[in-house]
Amino acid sequence: MKNIARTVGFKEGERNIFFHILTACNLACKHCYINKEQHGTNQLSKEMIVDWLRLFADSEKKSNVIFLGGEPTLHPDLGYAIARAKELDFAVTVDSNGYLFHDLLEKTTPALLDYLSFSLDGPDAEVNDPIRGEGVFEICTENIEKAVKKGFNVSVIFTVSKKNILHLERMVPLLKKLKVKKFFIQVIGLRGNSAKNVSSETSQVTRKEWLDVVPQVAVKAAEEGIRVTYPKVFLDDGEVFQCAGNVAENYFVFPNGRVYLCPLCEDHPIHSYVIENGKLLKVTGLNESDFFQLHIDEGCVMNKLLQPDTIEYDQDQKPKYKISCCLLKQEIVPEKK
Ligand code: SF4
Ligand code: SF4
Repeated sequence: MKNIARTVGFKEGERNIFFHILTACNLACKHCYINKEQHGTNQLSKEMIVDWLRLFADSEKKSNVIFLGGEPTLHPDLGYAIARAKELDFAVTVDSNGYLFHDLLEKTTPALLDYLSFSLDGPDAEVNDPIRGEGVFEICTENIEKAVKKGFNVSVIFTVSKKNILHLERMVPLLKKLKVKKFFIQVIGLRGNSAKNVSSETSQVTRKEWLDVVPQVAVKAAEEGIRVTYPKVFLDDGEVFQCAGNVAENYFVFPNGRVYLCPLCEDHPIHSYVIENGKLLKVTGLNESDFFQLHIDEGCVMNKLLQPDTIEYDQDQKPKYKISCCLLKQEIVPEKK
């Protein structure tokens, strides 16, 4: 099978709403990015979920909503929220840690939910569970099987750290066995727990470690018919840097009303918008949008400010490569036979 590799540029006329409807979770992953000091402990009511969805609905644009938490299936009205989001013309995804509380598979249908995404950070319990919690691998893989049997489109998200990168390749046979259609490989973000507790489970890999493993595994997964998406991270020579905060529409919405345009900013009170009394308001004063305007040789400004160790310099103190926007993706699409 021949595969098509491409960089997925930011698409004009498309918007993505990453909607955290609560911050509570039953797990305590080592790399959890939720920061309750910044994002609160609210759980939005079902009426507020719909009101907030309306703020971002735009029939002129292809709109995607990704329901997140915490663990979004802890919300008893998630099935209701999925149905209303579909009525508002959103393509709907739920990102779950695999526990599928409140019988989600009975409360929605594959016609309403475009993708159900499960997080797994290892191809077996020995690798996954020290990162995500005892017993999680078994429950998550059982629920993937149930979801696939019921006809849901299932994807898996794998967050790469020093702890699990060498096990990434073994995800391919597992995903094939589980009949997973899409595989998202993510870089660990130095936010939330990862910013506080540095360990192999929360450490980013080097450029060499990433490039030696991730693109090759992506090709192998595509050879098995799985569509793979992973962040570009390092721009090649001649590739143009763009900041999604300037050229795309991604909204990271938290249940305390903060709305960020850049996920790297989420640990700080520098959000661009806030939802107050049912209205989406632009924040005045210094905020993330001011940083997006700065042009530096290193590429992403927030990366340079928050995780400068990811950048290598030559002897003239020039960066050896640009760091791409964390939202710029590389996609390997299996060619249909
Ligand atoms: S990463 Fe997700 S599943 Fe893990 S503790 Fe955080 S919210 Fe829960
Ligand atoms: S990750 Fe960097 S380039 Fe992307 S939106 Fe944030 S600041 Fe802009």
